[in-house]
Amino acid sequence: MRVVVVGGGIGGLALGAGLRRRGHRVAVFDRDTDVAATGGYHITLDRRAQSALERSVAPEVVRRLLASASALRLRGRDAFWDRRGRLLGHGPDLADSGSVDVDRITLRTLLADAVGEDLELGREVSGVDRDGHGTPRVAFADGTRVTADLVVGADGAHSVVARHLAAGPTNRPAGIIGFCGRTRRADLGPAERRRLGPRSSTAVAPRGTALYAGFHDPVGNAALDAPELRMSVTTEPTYIWGAMLPESARTDPLRGLIGAGLQAALLSRFRSHGWAESTLEVIARADPASIAAFRFNAASTRAADLAPWSPGRITALGDAVHAVPPTAGMGAGAAIRDAADLLDRLDRLDGAADGGTAALDDALTDAVGRFEAGMRERGSEVLTLGMRPVRWILATDTLIGAAATTVAAPVLAAAASWSGRFGRRPSEGAGEQVQ
Ligand SMILES: Cc1cc2nc3c(=O)[nH]c(=O)nc-3n(C[C@H](O)[C@H](O)[C@H](O)COP(=O)(O)OP(=O)(O)OC[C@H]3O[C@@H](n4cnc5c(N)ncnc54)[C@H](O)[C@@H]3O)c2cc1C
Repeated sequence: MRVVVVGGGIGGLALGAGLRRRGHRVAVFDRDTDVAATGGYHITLDRRAQSALERSVAPEVVRRLLASASALRLRGRDAFWDRRGRLLGHGPDLADSGSVDVDRITLRTLLADAVGEDLELGREVSGVDRDGHGTPRVAFADGTRVTADLVVGADGAHSVVARHLAAGPTNRPAGIIGFCGRTRRADLGPAERRRLGPRSSTAVAPRGTALYAGFHDPVGNAALDAPELRMSVTTEPTYIWGAMLPESARTDPLRGLIGAGLQAALLSRFRSHGWAESTLEVIARADPASIAAFRFNAASTRAADLAPWSPGRITALGDAVHAVPPTAGMGAGAAIRDAADLLDRLDRLDGAADGGTAALDDALTDAVGRFEAGMRERGSEVLTLGMRPVRWILATDTLIGAAATTVAAPVLAAAASWSGRFGRRPSEGAGEQVQ
């Protein structure tokens, strides 16, 4: 069986690597010319995503990934702050967490290596259809075409393949514009280094401004102690942050900016919303080249709305079907789980190709139908989780929401201060500053 995968991002490469490992003929096409030219942020993979990877790629690839990943169980509980840097509370204890954070560049590079020469870069797909015999066909921007027994669109939120299948877009803007960047912990002043600490933080303020600072340390907090296998791009403790603003005509000019210009405009926007200078240090001291703006896109949270087409020999997975805002921290994991499920379904097709074209067509259509049913449930789950913080952030941008946030923040800060003084276990919150 020959499978063509459109898109060599996280889901497409996981699928390509798994197909190759199982001996299928596969070709993965991506328009990018360099797999390392991808977002500089990190990806959280929970246990389910890791076990899906274990089913798809060779054990050596998983070992390299874990040796390059930062284990959540080794960092402190997340902290929640207001815009003045007052502590509002903590997230759950992470000691039992099986999740890991890995640089997106590392994850994509590892998966691309596993696909090997079956990955073709610099190949932009312009459309999909079926030829006169009903065989799926992929057309490229350079005018060439290829056919396959099965075509899988793993081409992200603006998917050409899913758009063809759904006869329109599969997601829409979620109302938030995000900015991400990287700041080495060593580049922060001592006070801010102490306040943020070796843990991740979120601060939300009235009028929909929010700032997440994810602590990433694949060397000090390695998930697998095997330095000889390490491929992490991040080599020292780093905050990978995401700033968020409600999207409006006023934020449009930000999306056209890059580097230091974008950094300055972002700082000025947050200052105008009353954020204390200290809480913005993580943005101000970032490497300007690492800062990028992107729009949050989201598909429907309802499973029945996802993949709204009849199953056949052209399908899609990942963000192409269930684009999810990064607030879930689960989009890549869901794409990897989609890939593993499709591989499992295809494994059960053994021998179907020997029964002729009609038998293969029936068997593939059935396998794809079962895969798409599971994908709808997975997509709905991650979208429901990812949209919760989005709705919460957008709610602070209403008159009532802004007032409630303003009133609640000092109360929560005072409560956290009291429980900090009288209720904290000795190991918790070293260096926290409650002003
Ligand atoms: C700042 C940020 C932080 C995130 N954090 C997390 C996290 O912590 N955990 C998590 O699980 N997810 C996270 N995500 C989401 C995650 O990155 C995506 O959900 C995931 O990459 C989706 O995988 P995919 O394979 O479906 O699509 P992608 O990884 O987007 O891959 C799509 C690929 O298709 C290619 N392509 C597109 N169109 C064409 C075409 N016409 N022809 C050829 N190639 C094409 C693109 O070049 C790209 O390589 C984050 C996203 C962002 C922006």
